[in-house]
Amino acid sequence: MDLTLSPSEREFRDRLRAWLAGNNPGPDPPGDDAAFEHRRDWQRKLFDAGYAGFAWPKEYGGQGATLVEQAIFGEEMARAKAPQPVNILGLVMGGPVVIHHGTEEQKERWLRPILTADEIWCQGFSEPESGSDLASLKTRAIKSNGEWLVTGQKVWTTYARRSKWCMLVARTDPDAPKHQGLTYFIMDMEQDAVQVRPLAQITGEPEFNELFMEEARIPDENVVGGVGNGWGVAITTLMNERAGLGAASAAGVRIALGELRELADERGVADDPVVRQRIGQLTIEVELLRLNAWRGLSAIMKRGVPGPEGSLPKWQWSEVNQALTELAIDILGEDGAAWDSPWAYRFLRARANSIEGGTTEILKNIVAERVLGLPKLR
Ligand SMILES: Cc1cc2nc3c(=O)[nH]c(=O)nc-3n(C[C@H](O)[C@H](O)[C@H](O)COP(=O)(O)OP(=O)(O)OC[C@H]3O[C@@H](n4cnc5c(N)ncnc54)[C@H](O)[C@@H]3O)c2cc1C
Repeated sequence: MDLTLSPSEREFRDRLRAWLAGNNPGPDPPGDDAAFEHRRDWQRKLFDAGYAGFAWPKEYGGQGATLVEQAIFGEEMARAKAPQPVNILGLVMGGPVVIHHGTEEQKERWLRPILTADEIWCQGFSEPESGSDLASLKTRAIKSNGEWLVTGQKVWTTYARRSKWCMLVARTDPDAPKHQGLTYFIMDMEQDAVQVRPLAQITGEPEFNELFMEEARIPDENVVGGVGNGWGVAITTLMNERAGLGAASAAGVRIALGELRELADERGVADDPVVRQRIGQLTIEVELLRLNAWRGLSAIMKRGVPGPEGSLPKWQWSEVNQALTELAIDILGEDGAAWDSPWAYRFLRARANSIEGGTTEILKNIVAERVLGLPKLR
């Protein structure tokens, strides 16, 4: 892949950079509700400027951006330290899945409110007994009088408390082999049969939730991709999640590395040989991550949809981000234990990086079997 920008790509980058300089609302204010509203306003600003769902095809409200433009977009957002748009799961996963697998009616109904952040989306895949082995999930959906009744429990459901819609995978045929008996639904969260209970993370934030369904109702027209095809649709969701995480976060850790260098200077340890060695190693890994993220993008360009190679940058990113925040805490010494230290927050939040969006062990299996073509263990 050619990594030099063409004149029109440079022009796009400069225009975006100037727009961000005038419009970036800055970091989230303290407090969960205030941060939510801040990010919602930000997404609306992005939408008005044509940058929300920027990669989506034009006919569905996006800009049909090329992959290079998307990578530039991720890099410039990270460089400007702009907050994430609030409806990140809808933009990165829900929308692309509906565009790829949905009917025209579903696209008409769901896509625009994702872009405008009027309807927030969450992802109801994981269950207490089914995370990595997602296909073993037990939540049941039974058809009755033209609609589906869903009973079961999901867990770790990010933003469920704020969401209107949930991408829900449920078992519709308990007698079929486990990957074939699943169906992908879009479930309305605003019903009494759906109960959400927040879970506090190590950072103290209630970012994710438990989700309980007792005969929750889903109309038949909210099945995406056909009954029994839920596994294939879920895989599209996960590939989009990992591809999105890899490219944008490669830029994010490069910025964080610059901040780490500043921290080492401020604390007078930039010449310490061990600190220098650890920063040197991180610099190499951040560059490798950037190149692998671009390699993933060029594979998508060839194939049209994200594939298993998105697993590599996601795995590398989680390791680099954890090592980087650990070094920051080592440099800070006892100041790193202060609850209100931004590095302490980043260090604690980074613990989840090697679990969310697929654990590192699972990603290594995917890279071994599906990218390198090594023999399967089982
Ligand atoms: C911050 C955060 C946000 C999340 N948000 C969501 C969300 O919005 N929606 C959602 O559905 N889920 C979400 N998750 C859940 C996440 O996808 C799961 O935690 C993850 O898939 C792992 O599943 P598990 O926790 O059940 O662990 P398990 O699958 O039980 O794994 C336990 C350990 O065993 C290892 N292991 C398991 N199987 C294998 C194997 N075959 N080979 C080698 N090692 C193996 C794992 O790597 C792990 O170390 C979130 C998680 C986090 C941390």
